[in-house]
Amino acid sequence: MINIKNLNKYYGKTKVLDDISIDIKKGEIFAIVGHSGAGKSTLLRCINGLEEYSDGSLKVNNREIKSLNKKELKEFRKNIGMIFQHFSLIQRKTVYENVTLPMQLWGYDKSSIDKKVKELLTLVGLEQKFNSYPKELSGGQKQRVAIARALTLEPDILLSDEATSALDPNTTTSILNLLKQINEKLNITIVLVTHEMDVVKQIAQKALLLEHGNIIGFDD
Ligand code: ADP
Ligand code: ADP
Repeated sequence: MINIKNLNKYYGKTKVLDDISIDIKKGEIFAIVGHSGAGKSTLLRCINGLEEYSDGSLKVNNREIKSLNKKELKEFRKNIGMIFQHFSLIQRKTVYENVTLPMQLWGYDKSSIDKKVKELLTLVGLEQKFNSYPKELSGGQKQRVAIARALTLEPDILLSDEATSALDPNTTTSILNLLKQINEKLNITIVLVTHEMDVVKQIAQKALLLEHGNIIGFDD
């Protein structure tokens, strides 16, 4: 589903991804592990079409990302949900409003938005929090809102960039369990980036170790 071959990425003259080749299959939970600065986020952003790569090939569902035009890229990105370390919620909007945003941007009608948001907030265990604001929620609850938002457009792929790094160990486990449940129930491929080996052990089926832009280990 995600096929990366001899991918290189430079920022100026600095090589931040060096000859990366990975194949990620549909339905897998795949981890990319490494210290800060290893190139993990850059790799995720390449997969999401947010970052151009210097050379090599990156295909998602057999389509080369760098050959997509602007309109195709926008459509392509609908198929990928993303969650982040600091949740990226809008503080002055309620849980319900935060989750509706992607569907509103794509012009869905109110009744299908309503149905989808209810379904997803129930899935993540926040059916009691529709009208709460982010500041009234715990870290784990905020990440649950972000997960619901990432799933609204029914993506095939969920990218997680250090999604549990701001959470305590118990909350981390509960979020990882939720991600596993989503992977199984919705058959969504999950690619997660983390610097914590413990997260990898709890959730990943395959893991890739990245250092200074190089693959230095692979565990399946
Ligand atoms: P990680 O996610 O593993 O912490 P990143 O992908 O964020 O690593 O960064 C990899 C390297 O690329 C680092 O050396 C970082 O300083 C550099 N880098 C990241 N983004 C940019 C940018 N926009 N411009 C220049 N250098 C960058
Ligand atoms: P906290 O940061 O308060 O520990 P959690 O992420 O553990 O937050 O839980 C947030 C909410 O989700 C709680 O209301 C909890 O009851 C509910 N919850 C916890 N685990 C699950 C789960 N596996 N599936 C659905 N809901 C859950």
